[in-house]
Amino acid sequence: MPRSLLTATFCISALIAGPSQAQQATTSAEYRAQGEAEVAARIAAPERPDRARNVIIFIGDGMGVSTLTAARILAGENAGVDGESFVTAMDSLDHTALVRTYSHDGQVSDSAPTATAILAGLKTRNGVIGVGPEVVVGDCASGLANRVPSLFGMAQEAGLATGIVTTTRITHATPAAGYAHTPQRDWEADADIPAEALSGGCADIARQLIEGPVGAELDVILGGGRSAFLPTTSADPEYPEQTGRRQDGRDLIAEWQEAHPGGTFAWNAEQLAGYNPASGGPLLGLFEPSHMQYEADRADDAGGEPSLADMVELSIRRLAGETGGYVLLVEGGRIDHAHHGGNAYRALTDAAAFDDAVARALSLVDLDETLIVTTADHSHTLTMSGYPHRGNPILGTVAFGEPQVARDGKAYTTLGYANGPGAVQTGDRPDPAAEDTAAPDYRQQALIPLSSETHAGEDVAVRGSGPGADLFRGTMEQHTIFHIVHRALFGQGPN
Ligand SMILES: [Zn+2]
Repeated sequence: MPRSLLTATFCISALIAGPSQAQQATTSAEYRAQGEAEVAARIAAPERPDRARNVIIFIGDGMGVSTLTAARILAGENAGVDGESFVTAMDSLDHTALVRTYSHDGQVSDSAPTATAILAGLKTRNGVIGVGPEVVVGDCASGLANRVPSLFGMAQEAGLATGIVTTTRITHATPAAGYAHTPQRDWEADADIPAEALSGGCADIARQLIEGPVGAELDVILGGGRSAFLPTTSADPEYPEQTGRRQDGRDLIAEWQEAHPGGTFAWNAEQLAGYNPASGGPLLGLFEPSHMQYEADRADDAGGEPSLADMVELSIRRLAGETGGYVLLVEGGRIDHAHHGGNAYRALTDAAAFDDAVARALSLVDLDETLIVTTADHSHTLTMSGYPHRGNPILGTVAFGEPQVARDGKAYTTLGYANGPGAVQTGDRPDPAAEDTAAPDYRQQALIPLSSETHAGEDVAVRGSGPGADLFRGTMEQHTIFHIVHRALFGQGPN
């Protein structure tokens, strides 16, 4: 095949938005052509305007670079093509930077200060949301005194529509950073708050979503976490044997419906499908009492849950109907939870579902007016190691032609964790060759025994396409993401 034709073939796969099978190179000439095509795609990448009408920020919670690579390979394997050269939707984005994720007081951070960095433009302390580093953790008065504005409030003041979508409880750290201020991320319902903080005037995160200045103005709210909105006297609609968690007797869902007469509340996929995004009414969807299901378990949900991609599509269709543009936050929140459980299967399938949501967004927006950003708040201790051959199943044990064994004579998996519940507490480790390491419930082995695998502190990636995305380059502080997005939306930094 002539070189120019090869280049053109590779070029197409590099330029289309969304997941695709990269043209798999097999010869010296094809590998060179593949490299040339990646250069050509960059040279040919379109210039975008500086100013964005809309911004969609995708945060894969705990989606470190090892997760990105392993999820890419799994997505390719599941599509029946070469996993290593598979191109995900996130891979197709034009600009990339490395991001330092340390917090004001932590070498390794949690999701509260990192989401605050991305959405409010500054580093703060581990465990706090929407407040500056001057705060005393857990102290109500200092939390009230050190509130910092988020991108969502700024967007609403400028007349933009706003939406927040997550697979976690909507009161969990990442989504909460869009609309809440709290010196303790665990204050999701009033039952979680000490009496002196309640009497000191600190509102729980669920209340801030319903009656706070930013929360009350959100046009789209989709996620889990119903129990923080319902009183202990109300049965859950999906699991009638359960009740809400609110001790103040308030039904915040009913209050939201009263405050938004043209609004729609949905607690299952069927109700959500009945929502007409062209109606222009606000939308509240709370699909589980706690977090939504993992993607791997979603089909078995009692009430039926929408996919993250479907929630993103509905949100974009609703928000794009506004005249002034919009800001949308999308969190793939349970990648993190599966990693904490030492369960790579669910982490990677949730990461792949997150990429599907990015692909859906790319299919719906014009990158000359919409800035798309994908990043992670922090990493996890997942590692992809050993010397498996090309095409070895990513969830399998290491083989290079022949199965490989460690010094104890046992097999080892490509994916493992530095710590977590997959570590043996006492005695010898089991032989993974005797187990189904690709089973949904399999826990990868780990070194240090901890009940919950931990976050990791190395840099994560931020990637973007659209107006302003060319500033995602080099190595940057996490809160710089906010300033790039702010400049794209408003033409300047915040005061
Ligand atoms: Zn976590």
